[in-house]
Amino acid sequence: MSLQEYNKKRNFKETSEPSGKKKTAGNKLKFVIQRHAASRLHYDFRLEMDGVLKSWAVPKGPSLNPADKRLAMMVEDHPYDYRTFEGTIPEGNYGAGEVEIWDQGTYEPIEPVKGKSDDLVMRAELHRESLKFVLHGEKLKGEFALVKIKNAKDENAWLLIKHKDKFAVEEDYDAEAYTDEDSRVTALLKEKERKKKRINPEGQNPLKIIPRHFPGKRNYRNSYGLCSVKQAINHLMIPTGSLR
Ligand code: MN
Repeated sequence: MSLQEYNKKRNFKETSEPSGKKKTAGNKLKFVIQRHAASRLHYDFRLEMDGVLKSWAVPKGPSLNPADKRLAMMVEDHPYDYRTFEGTIPEGNYGAGEVEIWDQGTYEPIEPVKGKSDDLVMRAELHRESLKFVLHGEKLKGEFALVKIKNAKDENAWLLIKHKDKFAVEEDYDAEAYTDEDSRVTALLKEKERKKKRINPEGQNPLKIIPRHFPGKRNYRNSYGLCSVKQAINHLMIPTGSLR
């Protein structure tokens, strides 16, 4: 995968995200996890490899509890410079919303190979669709695995799993609990929540589908009246691009 797809999706006259160029890596491989409030909140897990950032969108965020298997949808490669990107992606652009760095640091393969660079080892593991690595982040530390789900409906579906080691936890782990208090992503989410409440002050689900009340009719009911089948479907379906 090159950076073509990344560049194609973005208008660099509008977004402040970096344009895609390959870069030579430093001594240690780097990783970054960005918290991204787009159409849906998710975490972007990125590992430096082959001069780019191999990327996965993790809807629930990473976990330090080995019992959790977090879905990680592989997305297009991002340029190495994306590692430090934080800020607003303007409305109407790909991934519009707010991005902030949640964790970052260096990483290396759990099983290094003599005479091979870490980069080469990780690229071989990526090819085998099973990555095993040690993270040295501020929040995430220790061994992790990222493995592709075999025979999944979506060929981009992987799982991010914490290995049992001294950094693993037994209690429930919610990445959201480890965000900064002055987080701009959280501020944006709160603002969205406030707007939603203004539109729908009673906090009810604005779209209750009660098709049996309208036998044979092509309309569904929401709390303020009727809407078309198409509107109902649009409202309930997760947009395909929402995880990026
Ligand atoms: Mn994203």
